[in-house]
Amino acid sequence: MHDVNLHQPSAGAAAASIEVRVDPALAETAVRNHASAGHMDHAVFARYRDELDDLYDVDDPVRRDAAFARWAVTWFHELGLARPLLAAIEERPALSTPTRVLLVGDAGRASDEGVTCEPGGAHLGVRCAVSRFGDPARLLSWARHAMGHAEDTLDPAFGFEPRWDEGAVAAPAAARLHRLWDVTVDSRLADAGHVASAPARRRHVDALAGDLRGVDMAHVEAIVDRLWTGPRPTFGTLARWSARTTLLIEEVLPGRQVRQRPDLCPLCRFPSEDVGVPDADVATLVSAAHPAWSPRLGLCGRCTDRYRLTASLGGVVR
Ligand SMILES: [Zn+2]
Ligand SMILES: [Zn+2]
Repeated sequence: MHDVNLHQPSAGAAAASIEVRVDPALAETAVRNHASAGHMDHAVFARYRDELDDLYDVDDPVRRDAAFARWAVTWFHELGLARPLLAAIEERPALSTPTRVLLVGDAGRASDEGVTCEPGGAHLGVRCAVSRFGDPARLLSWARHAMGHAEDTLDPAFGFEPRWDEGAVAAPAAARLHRLWDVTVDSRLADAGHVASAPARRRHVDALAGDLRGVDMAHVEAIVDRLWTGPRPTFGTLARWSARTTLLIEEVLPGRQVRQRPDLCPLCRFPSEDVGVPDADVATLVSAAHPAWSPRLGLCGRCTDRYRLTASLGGVVR
């Protein structure tokens, strides 16, 4: 079995107070992957095989499925597959103190991976790809980053807005918000010695360069530098900057003359600094005229005005 360097001698003991509830299907895949990767010693593997054979002998399919689920969850716990997740929680008292139950589920797609905390913080939900359980060290790195977001969401000073990503924000701005937030999460992980600073900063410069089209690299580096070393922006500030990158540049690098190429509107294809999610009336008209378009792709201000005018006249734009 792999062991994880917890960095804190007390982490294992304190983590025992958090109950782990894992999705049985995820547990079964993780346990089977663990066995087929050869991580079990001989005696453990023999017992694993025997128990598995017994399960296949259960004739009633409903009872067999239930027995498989119980077996998978038991082995998931016995193999300590959630240990890296618990270790990442234990490193953050703001999370470990309120958390009573850790819910572990499968993320269908990479974009579904993440952490959700209820406002009181007693239940912490983690969704990740089952393949992550095959590499405890990488799972710990992933969890440390994810828990950085989780800790911020529980901090009143951060001003997190729950359900912010459920449609009110255009998809490009939401992705940009996550990338800006990532810089501040990783800078604090670097301070704690959990992330190598130089390669992480490089990654963030490359990622933000895609958001700041046409901005020269020295300025992109200066922005990442300020996000990395400066105080953590509030959620509202990150949201404002991600909606309008001109504001990000003006406020992070005040007084500098920085040029950038704005986003293209998905409808008219003109460069625009105000691509955003339109209101429901406008979205209905646009969807009728452009079936491939979805509200999250956003619309520029000129197109929004054009459809709003049409809506007010009760017509349809083609
Ligand atoms: Zn992140
Ligand atoms: Zn447009």
